[in-house]
Amino acid sequence: MTNTDTADAAGTAAQVAALAAAGSQLVRITVNNDEAAAAVPEIATRLADLGVVVPLVGDFHYNGHLLLAKYPACAQTLAKYRINPGNVGGKRRDEHFRTIVQIAVECGKPVRIGVNWGSLDQDLLTEMMDENAAAGSPRTAKDVYIEAMLASALRSAEMAEAVGLRHDQILISAKVSHVPDLVEVYGRLAARCDYPLHLGPTEAGMGMKGQVASAAALAILLAQGIGDTIRVSLTPKPDGDRSEEVLVAQQILQSLGLRSFAPQVTACPGCGRTTSTFFQHMAQDIQTYLREQMPLWKTTRPGVETMNVAVMGCVVNGPGESKHANLGISLPGTFEDPKAPVYMDGKLLTTLKGDRIVQEFLVILEDYVARTYPSGALTGA
Ligand code: SF4
Repeated sequence: MTNTDTADAAGTAAQVAALAAAGSQLVRITVNNDEAAAAVPEIATRLADLGVVVPLVGDFHYNGHLLLAKYPACAQTLAKYRINPGNVGGKRRDEHFRTIVQIAVECGKPVRIGVNWGSLDQDLLTEMMDENAAAGSPRTAKDVYIEAMLASALRSAEMAEAVGLRHDQILISAKVSHVPDLVEVYGRLAARCDYPLHLGPTEAGMGMKGQVASAAALAILLAQGIGDTIRVSLTPKPDGDRSEEVLVAQQILQSLGLRSFAPQVTACPGCGRTTSTFFQHMAQDIQTYLREQMPLWKTTRPGVETMNVAVMGCVVNGPGESKHANLGISLPGTFEDPKAPVYMDGKLLTTLKGDRIVQEFLVILEDYVARTYPSGALTGA
């Protein structure tokens, strides 16, 4: 999701393009006022001019019914609308929700019904809390909260279908920031409906905390076969790179073996056998090299994203791990002979020595990529 002012069409198009270049397969933009809604078609035009093809999802809160009706070009341009049933407007909530869905039906757009723990329909929650308090054996407040989220999402989906949105045009998300609660919410949701589910621990936080929390939540759910689209919601550093959340999402999917996006480097953590930093530098150099090649390789080396390169600190686990990788190198540990065996597709290829080990290994790597993942254009495939 972008964090630019959507009214700034040039800035938003640039960030959408950057997210798409990083690998985002759909990008959500805030549509929060007249200026933002009016800018949406221009954003799409600018992206087309840049040759960027990526669906834009409009995020609506409070005034979506007004903006979509007032700016039909915005409604047409967006590929999907995200509606938070808790934020469509007080007493006339259902009426506003139906208005948005009616526009989606007329424009042939899918809708994500996105319930959020932080903006849950308060009337529904109060009603369910009151019912629970009056029950003979009341459930915990958290349990009722979770049930209220599910009820909000599923009742909204039912209402959307009643307005005329097809069943297969509805997606649901129910975002919570606390990992165990998120897992609980989605587990119940998946058991109660067959709508596609959008996963994303919301407000995951900054840096390592946000990355680990997102990975923990998504791994549990995806491993259970729950989830159809994902987003990692990271708070970037001031002026930080927004694309970080795309890379984290990709890494989660690749770590789970669900999708491949870039060659992976398997590296040991190092220990008392690796007393110099040479090994860490080498692992970093190879990882950087692979990342820098990917924009080109993505189009010229199909399949390279599945490649695995092992960079190991010594011969204890080095050769074994190397044999499992496409290419692997084991550096000499402290007091070991100054030589580095290189394995290719499970077999010992050569042993490198001297102070040009990294450069020589990169030559082997380039040659391996060229032979193993030939360009379709070059081979005519
Ligand atoms: S492979 Fe060698 S250097 Fe790496 S962690 Fe294991 S023993 Fe230590």
